[in-house]
Amino acid sequence: MPGKEGAAVEQPAVPDFWKGRLAEVDEAVAEVRRGKVSVIARSPGERDVYLVAYGERDDLRSQANYNSACGGRDPAAYARKTGETRPVVLFVGPVHGQEMENTVGLVNLIRVAETGQDWRGREWPRLAASIERCRVLIIPCANPDGRARCPYDSWIGISRLIMTKFGQGTRKDGSLYGWPGCKLVHPMVGDVGILGAYYNDDGINPMHDEFFAPMAEETKAILEAARTEAPDFAVSLHSHGQPPAVLEPSYVPKFIKEHVQQFGERLMKRYQDADLPAGRAPAISEDGDKFPPPSFNLVSALHHICGAAAFTFECCHGVTGDERYARVDFDQILDIQLILYDELLQYALDSPVHWVQEDALQ
Ligand SMILES: [Zn+2]
Repeated sequence: MPGKEGAAVEQPAVPDFWKGRLAEVDEAVAEVRRGKVSVIARSPGERDVYLVAYGERDDLRSQANYNSACGGRDPAAYARKTGETRPVVLFVGPVHGQEMENTVGLVNLIRVAETGQDWRGREWPRLAASIERCRVLIIPCANPDGRARCPYDSWIGISRLIMTKFGQGTRKDGSLYGWPGCKLVHPMVGDVGILGAYYNDDGINPMHDEFFAPMAEETKAILEAARTEAPDFAVSLHSHGQPPAVLEPSYVPKFIKEHVQQFGERLMKRYQDADLPAGRAPAISEDGDKFPPPSFNLVSALHHICGAAAFTFECCHGVTGDERYARVDFDQILDIQLILYDELLQYALDSPVHWVQEDALQ
């Protein structure tokens, strides 16, 4: 596939189960029989953003938006979660188009929901059983424009500089925007040579959209899915070089940070037990105890629109160029993904959300 300058992009062949291209997302959603597929947004590049839903939806008898319900001291006015209502988990696939490891994972999750097996033919009995007991919402790729612009199908064995070139993009003179410098121009317009896969075709990075007046249809659709579905957990799926990690969400209540930490500890233990690379569970810190403050990002917004325990998951993508980076193969990356889903659904089932107070809303 030609790069920006017409040079061939050399990359290793990917195995058949590595389904991270947009055409493979289209095929996966076309084969959904047990779930329900909807198109929740059209990108500026006129590509569909899909939501695949499994499991019945409980009537949560909403009578107020989430923050008003909190203002009235009863989140159950927004969603009447009784502790016996079906857990709802929202997987927000990559908003950064080059982080296709997560699309590979979610396309395989759809396969497990449909057949009990991933695309390698491996059985995931507990995960399949958990899907039956939850409402599982899957956005396989939240930024199809960015994915379409990314010439690579995997980063295993590729140098960090190449990934940065196509992920975060370049200026007109070819210099790299890099991370996190790429966030200092937003929307990413003007001095752009290669528009990074971080952005949709309008230069919007949905992770840092303007959440009180979203610029991107993709962001609006993600938030609307959260608002209408009231997930207990909402995960924004990303990738980085280091071992997989659950990041501390910013500007959320302390008890949410505690849930996320607890889940992160369980997940890292699962990775260690499976001989997979494992990062650390997230900290619980006070936001903005020093300058500059953390950003109010998509994860913060997801929490505040619906009360979900929202967090960022960082997979590893297998790039080279830093000794701290995890060395992983295709199988290990898919295992990292499927173990995340398995553990999160189990955690949601183990910790049912109970918002209904006995003396309220009678
Ligand atoms: Zn990312």
